[in-house]
Amino acid sequence: MYNVAYVHDDKCIAEKGCRLCIMYCPEADCILLDTEKMKASVVTSRCKGCDLCKVVCSTHQAISMHPVNSSTGEILIEAKETQAAGMGQAYAG
Ligand code: SF4
Ligand code: SF4
Repeated sequence: MYNVAYVHDDKCIAEKGCRLCIMYCPEADCILLDTEKMKASVVTSRCKGCDLCKVVCSTHQAISMHPVNSSTGEILIEAKETQAAGMGQAYAG
């Protein structure tokens, strides 16, 4: 189990031009702009759970971290962030 970022569409203001999380995410093609919804969208399989996007979105708090089932790739949105995903551990994997 490790954590991944999740964007809450109701709080994301990408339609107003914000791209902070997209600019700061260190993983290529990991947070993309969903041009239909005009919201940021995380590619779960590429996210390393480093928390940077959550930090840069602190004003709008549109991003939260949640555990993901590593075998199925399913995000457990109702579950809180686990301790298992410190940056070092996530990148070591
Ligand atoms: S930083 Fe926050 S508000 Fe801005 S695009 Fe990313 S999720 Fe949306
Ligand atoms: S947690 Fe890190 S790797 Fe994942 S989307 Fe956010 S900035 Fe990118």
